[in-house]
Amino acid sequence: MKSKMEGFAERRTVLVVEDNDMNREILCDLLEDDFNVIQAENGLEGLLKLEERGGDIALVMLDVYMPLCDGFTFLERKRESGRFDSVPVIVMTASDSVEDEIRCLELGATDFITKPYNAEVMKNRMKSLIRLQESSSMLNRLELDELTRLYSKEFFFHNAGIVLQTDPDARYDVVCCDVEDFRTMNDRYGREQCDRFLHDLAGWLPQVLPGMILGGRLGADVFAFLTEHQEQDWTEILKNARFQPNPDGQPMHFSLKYGVAQDIDHETSVSVSCDRATLALRRIKGRFNTPVAVYDEEMRRMQLRERQLVEFAEPAIENREFQIYYQPKHNLENDATGGAEALVRWIHPQLGFISPGMFIPLFERNGFITKLDFYIWEEVCRELRKLLDEGFPAVPISVNVSRMDFEASDLSEKIAELADKYRLDHSLLHIELTESIAGENPELIQDTLEKLHEKGFVIELDDFGSGYSSLTSLNTLALDVLKLDMSIIRHASATSDYSILRYAVLLADGMRLKTVAEGVETADQVAALKVLGCDYIQGYYYSKPLPGPEFEQYLARCA
Ligand code: C2E
Ligand code: CA
Ligand code: CA
Repeated sequence: MKSKMEGFAERRTVLVVEDNDMNREILCDLLEDDFNVIQAENGLEGLLKLEERGGDIALVMLDVYMPLCDGFTFLERKRESGRFDSVPVIVMTASDSVEDEIRCLELGATDFITKPYNAEVMKNRMKSLIRLQESSSMLNRLELDELTRLYSKEFFFHNAGIVLQTDPDARYDVVCCDVEDFRTMNDRYGREQCDRFLHDLAGWLPQVLPGMILGGRLGADVFAFLTEHQEQDWTEILKNARFQPNPDGQPMHFSLKYGVAQDIDHETSVSVSCDRATLALRRIKGRFNTPVAVYDEEMRRMQLRERQLVEFAEPAIENREFQIYYQPKHNLENDATGGAEALVRWIHPQLGFISPGMFIPLFERNGFITKLDFYIWEEVCRELRKLLDEGFPAVPISVNVSRMDFEASDLSEKIAELADKYRLDHSLLHIELTESIAGENPELIQDTLEKLHEKGFVIELDDFGSGYSSLTSLNTLALDVLKLDMSIIRHASATSDYSILRYAVLLADGMRLKTVAEGVETADQVAALKVLGCDYIQGYYYSKPLPGPEFEQYLARCA
């Protein structure tokens, strides 16, 4: 939160999201006299800039039609995140399309202007919107959270910001505390008791945090505190802190996690320091014996690297930096190659080889995965067509799909169109879905899989046995193949106990599903899987994932 402004004594920062280079340049030139201007070339970059700059951005100027993530999606995501509700958005529409305008307003846009715009009118409109927003949010926001009597989020950021400004030489830490699985606690103990829990916790925390200056409630069960910088390790400080809720009543089971940003930079907004502390905290979620995590140099590097990868992703598709490797699946019944899995690799001109474990989870979070996966499916179709044209026997290739792929438009239509474009029999394309997919939005996934199935695509459930609640998905999803996760194969050969593996194969048999064993590395494992009746084997024992030309050689050798 910025201080009150009279005629903008202090320059506000505005974010311009516009894909057309020339339009963006012109607009930024216009605005630069009055505002600090940050630019983004599409909605996705815009959302990242919002994340990055925390509460610094006073207003967004948004174009509607942009590649990758358009204005509508930007507004949708902004609203979903809920964190930037107080940042007004002016949408710039090229035409006088009333429908676009209505849709934007419905999605939470504050106002719109039609291109071409009159510079003075536009700037005044921007200023009065910012002024309106700042004064109304100041009035509307409750300074203290009613339940906990800590500062509400905005006031915490604001007041902590003032503390930082007051003494530029002083050193501070930010400590965030989160109650793990609070939702489950709510179900278990009831709202009233959980409210009391939060109230008491908010009273207790300031007592155990040395050098406590002020505290705020950032979310339902997340608290943040600004403290004097502590030389002692926060893990040590908090080691013996024991919160005892409801001392006279029913005992409550709970776990607290702390994330710390140490010796925070005065130039960085408090909300960003809180983001860092919560990032550290998220890393230890679910880890039983680790209550405290400190945001450190490694996390910073990781965050920077992730940001860099996000930035590089879009041009990487155009530059064809994503390459597809094919890992053969060996058919145990006829001892021949029975297919392959397509696995993506990113070969960046400067960063070199980047493994999917590094970028897939990131792209799954920011949505880029839908674009990347579509690109990969098309490359795979092209490769299949090429193999057929060159006279190779038809082997199916499986592609990976992420949860997000199901949410973006009609997946079954999209995949069918691709297969038809390359004149491929649908049974040649297998769809691998990770087990974790099955838990979320079950109807959409169920429906889409059924459609894919009807169209003749083969559905494989990936990573079976890796620890999710998989049995329900086996019953409800239209599946053809179970891929046994490498962890159960490892477990079996390490302990010589094949019971889980046997059970998994039996289960698949009973449901008339084929089985593929993944991550098979030794002859002993192959022999055991053969005895158990597994159908296919994929793993280093037969081959590592291979680039296209080497995969072709492999096929030629095995033919
Ligand atoms: P996954 O689908 O479970 O893929 C199997 C992973 O095991 C691959 O790692 C593969 O290289 C590795 N692997 C195969 N055989 C062996 C073996 O014998 N021993 C060992 N130690 N490892 C083996 P990779 O290629 O790093 O992929 C990691 C994950 O990234 C994949 O797991 C998949 O979930 C995801 N992924 C890869 N490509 C794509 C893609 O194009 N789209 C999407 N959405 N996800 C992808
Ligand atoms: Ca897979
Ligand atoms: Ca797998």
